[in-house]
Amino acid sequence: MHETSIVNSIMRTLEMEFNEEKRNKMTEIHLKVGILSNIEPRLLQNAYSASQMMHPEYKNVTLSIESTPIKIKCDFCGETTMVQNYRFLCDTCERPSKNIIQGEEMLIHKVAFAD
Ligand SMILES: [Zn+2]
Repeated sequence: MHETSIVNSIMRTLEMEFNEEKRNKMTEIHLKVGILSNIEPRLLQNAYSASQMMHPEYKNVTLSIESTPIKIKCDFCGETTMVQNYRFLCDTCERPSKNIIQGEEMLIHKVAFAD
């Protein structure tokens, strides 16, 4: 399953980034998931719950998923527009744009630790 491999790669990233002592104090993983990223937050949450059972060190770590909207940058006027309802038009000059600068990514935005 797509989401399971994403969860595995998140865990691998955290293992490379933080040592065991630090990881034992983790309380929350905060993800930003673009709405064009093909990642379904609900399925990702389910995959994470399943992984928690196999990785007890994540038992007390909450996964928070924030959906990030689509943003385009206009090739003509350079303005940035927040895309609503998949309407890929520049707000300023009304020209269509496919220059997506946000909304396709999945990133670990921050990790919280207990004191
Ligand atoms: Zn424009």
